[in-house]
Amino acid sequence: MEADFNTPPTTCEMAAKEEIVVKKPEVQLKGIGLGDNEDGDIAAAVCNGTVASYSLESSLGDCKRAASVRRTALELMTGRSLNGLPLEGFNYESILGQCCEMPVGYVQVPVGVAGPLLLNGSEYMVPMATTEGCLVASTNRGCKAILMSGGATSILIREGMTRAPVVRFQSAKRAADLKFYIEDPTNSDSLSDIFNRTSRFARLQDIKCAVAGKNLYMRFSCFTGDAMGMNMVSKGVQNVLDHLQIMFPDMDVISVSDKKPTAVNWIEGRGKSVVCEAIITEAVVNKVLKTTVPALLELNMLKNLTGSAMAGAMGGFNAHAANIVSAIFIATGQDPAQNVESSHCITMMEGVNGGKDLHISVSMPCIEVGTVGGGTQLASQAACLNMLGVKGANGTSPGSNAQKLATVVAAAVMAGELSLMSALAAGQLVKSHMKYNRSTKDVKAA
Ligand code: ADP
Repeated sequence: MEADFNTPPTTCEMAAKEEIVVKKPEVQLKGIGLGDNEDGDIAAAVCNGTVASYSLESSLGDCKRAASVRRTALELMTGRSLNGLPLEGFNYESILGQCCEMPVGYVQVPVGVAGPLLLNGSEYMVPMATTEGCLVASTNRGCKAILMSGGATSILIREGMTRAPVVRFQSAKRAADLKFYIEDPTNSDSLSDIFNRTSRFARLQDIKCAVAGKNLYMRFSCFTGDAMGMNMVSKGVQNVLDHLQIMFPDMDVISVSDKKPTAVNWIEGRGKSVVCEAIITEAVVNKVLKTTVPALLELNMLKNLTGSAMAGAMGGFNAHAANIVSAIFIATGQDPAQNVESSHCITMMEGVNGGKDLHISVSMPCIEVGTVGGGTQLASQAACLNMLGVKGANGTSPGSNAQKLATVVAAAVMAGELSLMSALAAGQLVKSHMKYNRSTKDVKAA
């Protein structure tokens, strides 16, 4: 959207075209409310610092208008056009105070669909938001191989969102005292009550403690229903810390852990821990995947297991789990940052039925997904959840929508592993990338 100033052209506007050093525009705001002014004047006031960009939503009372004004101000300030970043066609009210601050538009990511994915007796069409050519096509081929071999089985083996605050004392002895207090079974009911008070759905499962000198690291684990649960568990943890502070007034709360790949998550699990398996028949390996069972077994050993070990991988014993996890996460409104541990995966392959057919499994201990909260309620992300039949909260069995989503993520990862590994085994990777991933357009002309 172009700036539409009633005021004469400013140095700022000239800068937008010529990219010169910007001089702050002069503007005289009028009226009682900020909204009484022309959008261009408000943008100029944002540009010269008279109006705070972050306050536009509250002072204008119109999220779309706020985004539009902020965008104009941004173009003025940077001297760079935002053409190509759409503004129209998005509900800015839906992200206010929840998903994104200071919006100036939205990025379009294409959504492809892979499937049907036959999993636990049901067929799923899997939405994948990506700009990587080949990814959806490859996952789709893996889905076909699974379907033609009778389907996959995905099992949720554990679930619990975790948070790990660190508290500090004047002595190691006091840190140990708190560890003993938390681990004393006579205190566990009251700690659970205090934690669970924060939500209808939060249920504390356990608190694991590790002492490092005068510091105590507590790892809270909690059932969070259909929510991915970071906010939920944070609230519960805060309640428990407030309570512990009364018993241990010398306790200093330092911080809580955040999103990063860690060995404890890989070993203990975080979010949903899922194992998924399928037997792919020899005929399907040959016809659909265009390779052989022995070639796949050898490649899996050399690449996913030994290769990852040689690279010092932690939770990365797979070919490209992160590709599928990220694409589904973006499509369904998950937190893409949690790809870091959600993509932990070990892919295993064995010959079965006398070595003729292929048994493949993926074990993923940290699939951190939800179907309520965060980005899941936005229109396009909710539509993708709906495609999978897991939109929103499950009214009859809280938690089962998020559980099902986790099993679908694991099965889709398995489809992706099957297809990529087969392409590598058959030496097809470079060929297929040349076909789908190389733009044939003249980049300069585009
Ligand atoms: P997160 O912890 O994943 O960031 P939030 O705690 O922000 O998610 O959002 C979850 C919200 O959804 C909570 O307010 C919770 O009470 C509500 N909610 C409604 N139904 C459910 C359900 N079935 N499971 C979990 N939360 C639910």
